[in-house]
Amino acid sequence: MANSEFQYVRSFETWDALPPSNWIVVRIDGRGFSKLCKKYDFAKPNDRRALDLMNAAAVEVVRSFVDIVLAYGQSDEYSFIFHESAQLFERRAVKLATSVATQFTAEYCMLWPKYMQGVELERPWPTFDGRCVCYPKRKILRDYLAWRQADCHINNLYNTTFWNLVLKGGRTGTEAEEELKGTVSGDKNEILFTKFGINYNKEDEIYRKGTVVYRAYDLEVNGQERNKEATEGSKSQLEKEKKRKMKAKIEVEHCDIIGDGFWEKRPYILA
Ligand code: ATP
Ligand code: ATP
Ligand code: MG
Ligand code: MG
Ligand code: MG
Ligand code: MG
Ligand code: MG
Repeated sequence: MANSEFQYVRSFETWDALPPSNWIVVRIDGRGFSKLCKKYDFAKPNDRRALDLMNAAAVEVVRSFVDIVLAYGQSDEYSFIFHESAQLFERRAVKLATSVATQFTAEYCMLWPKYMQGVELERPWPTFDGRCVCYPKRKILRDYLAWRQADCHINNLYNTTFWNLVLKGGRTGTEAEEELKGTVSGDKNEILFTKFGINYNKEDEIYRKGTVVYRAYDLEVNGQERNKEATEGSKSQLEKEKKRKMKAKIEVEHCDIIGDGFWEKRPYILA
C-alpha cells in the first residue's frame, strides 16, 4: 500500500535519548494528592496504609525493571534510580518516564483494596506524573537522594507539629500556621515535647526517613566483580547477570541515606 505517502510524519518525532554514563532518576508524584487525601480521609499527618501502598507499588516497579538499583519514596512521590549503564529503551526519556509512571499507577490502583481495606476507590482514579533527570556523577546522585530525604524530614517535622496543634491543641489551621511561622527545627521539637509530650526522634522511622527499596545481591559477589561481568561479559554472562538481578531479594528499609553508612555497607548498589 502507499503507506510511504504518509511515512514522512515520523520525522516530526524527536529523539530524546538521555546522555550515556549518567545515572537516570525517574521521579513519579501523585497528581492532586492533597485533594485525594481529603476525599479518602487519610490520617494526618501520616496515613500508614497509604505509605505501605506506595511502598508495595514501588517494590513491584523495582522488581520488573532490572536496571533499577534503588528507589526512594516519601509522601506521594518515588524516585527510581536506573544504573548509569542502563540501555532500556535506548535510554529514551519519555519511554522511561511513561513506562515507570504507568506501571506505578497500575500497581497502586490494583493494590489499593489490599492496603486500604474497606475503602472503595472511585473515579478519578489515582494517577502519577513522571519525569527523568540525569546525574553525571555518583556524588551528585547521592546529593539528589539527600535532597529528597531532607525534604521528607523537613515536611514531616512541620506536618507533625502542625497536626498536633490542630488535633490535640485545639488550634484552627490558620492559627497553627501562624504559630509555626518563622520557627526553626529546634522550636518545633520544643513545641512537640513541651505541649504534647512527643519526642520527635522517637516517631516511626518510616515517617521521619521515608523508604528505601533496593536489590540486595548475594554478599559473596561484590560490586566490582559484578561490574566486570556486566561490561566485559559475553552474552551468556550478561544473561546470567540479568537472571541474578531478577532473582535478587528486594529489601525495604527506613534508614538514613544522607550519611555514608548505608552506602559503605552496600557498595554494590552504586557499583
Ligand atoms: P501535584 O499534583 O502538583 O503533585 P499534590 O496535591 O499531589 O499536587 P504534593 O506536593 O505532591 O501536591 O503533595 C502531596 C500531598 O499529599 C501532601 O500534602 C502530603 O502531605 C499528602 N500525603 C501524601 N501521602 C500521604 C499520607 N500517606 N498520609 C497523609 N498525607 C499524605
Ligand atoms: P513495544 O513495547 O516496543 O511497543 P510491542 O510488542 O507492544 O512492543 P507494538 O509495535 O506496539 O509492539 O505492536 C503491538 C502489537 O500488538 C502488534 O503486533 C499489534 O498487531 C498487536 N495488537 C495490538 N492491539 C491488538 C488487538 N486489539 N488485536 C490484535 N492484535 C493487537
Ligand atoms: Mg507536586
Ligand atoms: Mg503530588
Ligand atoms: Mg508530592
Ligand atoms: Mg507496544
Ligand atoms: Mg505500538
